Amino acid sequence: MFGRMPRKTSNNTKYYEVLGVSKSASQDELKKAYRKAAIKNHPDKGGDPEKFKELSQAYEVLSDPEKREIYDQYGEDALKEGMGGGSSSDFHSPFDIFEQLFPGSGTFGGGSSRGRRQKRGEDVVHTMKVSLEDLYNGTTKKLSLSRSVLCSKCKGKGSKSGASGTCHGCRGAGMRTITRQIGMGMIQQMNTICPECKGSGEIISEKDKCPGCKGSKVSQEKKVLEVHVEKGMQHGQKIVFQGQADEAPDTLTGDIVFVLQLKDHPKFKRKYDDLFVEHTISLTEALCGLQFVLTHLDGRQLLIKSNPGEVIKPGQHKAINDEGMPQHGRPFMKGRLFVEFNVEFPEPGALSPSQCQSLEKILPPKPGSQLSDMELDQCEETTLQDVNIEEEMRRRQQQKRQEAYDEDEEESGPRVQCAQQ
Ligand SMILES: [Zn+2]
Ligand SMILES: [Zn+2]
Repeated sequence: MFGRMPRKTSNNTKYYEVLGVSKSASQDELKKAYRKAAIKNHPDKGGDPEKFKELSQAYEVLSDPEKREIYDQYGEDALKEGMGGGSSSDFHSPFDIFEQLFPGSGTFGGGSSRGRRQKRGEDVVHTMKVSLEDLYNGTTKKLSLSRSVLCSKCKGKGSKSGASGTCHGCRGAGMRTITRQIGMGMIQQMNTICPECKGSGEIISEKDKCPGCKGSKVSQEKKVLEVHVEKGMQHGQKIVFQGQADEAPDTLTGDIVFVLQLKDHPKFKRKYDDLFVEHTISLTEALCGLQFVLTHLDGRQLLIKSNPGEVIKPGQHKAINDEGMPQHGRPFMKGRLFVEFNVEFPEPGALSPSQCQSLEKILPPKPGSQLSDMELDQCEETTLQDVNIEEEMRRRQQQKRQEAYDEDEEESGPRVQCAQQ
């Protein structure tokens, strides 16, 4: 056999084109070009994995002066044929190259992923009960939580030696493809969970297991979180602690999320930025003016007064500006406080006939008193009785339902008779 002559190949510019640099680019320029393109095309950011791989391969070759020389002279095929000291399958994982250049680039799922794409850990969601006072004034709640963290002794490897102990049965994939012949040259392929490692992709020998975590890679940690509830936050609003949920190997840690849950308040109701409060007054207050003290959610005492000459009707609302809820993010802007008035009337028999007479002199005249004796003679005398109107309505409805049912019965009656004839 003759010694193989390096083929003069056509393509020794592709890698430069991939990175978008000239053939005379310096190492620095290469690095910058790779960085820019790799961040843009990183699969974790929705980039095309093929493009990302291409970039990494190009950079891996061109950043190595020896490989670059071979590539410049003979092109890509020369590297594949072993002149660079390895075949193309010896390219490193594109994720490793990226990680080498930007160590700890956590936002891209870097860490110690060793080329495996990281999955995202689950978020931990808690509901957090808050009072209306908490949302009005803002508060900080301390919460003690238990969470899984990567074992500090083995740094999440699970082994004493630091070996990852890749399972031989599945080469770390956790899944195995089983090929079965199902007759006449037909082959069925099935993916199953690797029985040797039970899908974890690795096996740590009993002897090598980390004493800290017994090979589980994680340990439990108590953590105190300070949850800042800001003024004006709403029921259902979320407070997020990014990346503070349970840690797991090769996993991007999820978030701890607190969802605010407003407890009922005995006095105030909230609607967006407004507050509502009910207040019961006597008939005298309704007619002759009122003042009362309302303790607000921050403990301030508000003196609330009616205007001179004002008459308050039952169910009437009055509003006070800037005494509602603070707006979230703009706590100096506040909604309105609405007061709904209930008017309590005197109990039966509270007024004597003579008191009534004095009242009649002040209040508008009764229309009934204008009836003449003659007209009165022609009437039958009746008296009013107490009713519970809600109960009365309920009874009425029940009656209607019963009637509707009875009608149905009557209608179906003749039909049955027809059928019998
Ligand atoms: Zn396995
Ligand atoms: Zn450990």
